[in-house]
Amino acid sequence: MRVLVDLNRCQSYGQCVYAAPEVFRFRGAESLEYEHVPDAESDRAVDRAARACPVQAITLGRATASGTAVEPGGAGIGEVR
Ligand code: SF4
Repeated sequence: MRVLVDLNRCQSYGQCVYAAPEVFRFRGAESLEYEHVPDAESDRAVDRAARACPVQAITLGRATASGTAVEPGGAGIGEVR
């Protein structure tokens, strides 16, 4: 799974950090860092994090030949390259 966070949309609520601390973390007070391609064992936690984000800033996808396709039900806009 691939993870993309729209940091312009992110409001630093921290719900993703609580849901998947092995993938999302804050550096300093409000700067979000995350693993772009987390281990497969984190898939369920990452999915919970995406669903918990109050501003739907987290897009989940999978690798395809043409880029990264957004998972059904993800918060994305179709195709992320
Ligand atoms: S839950 Fe959403 S708004 Fe909050 S820190 Fe994570 S990505 Fe940002």
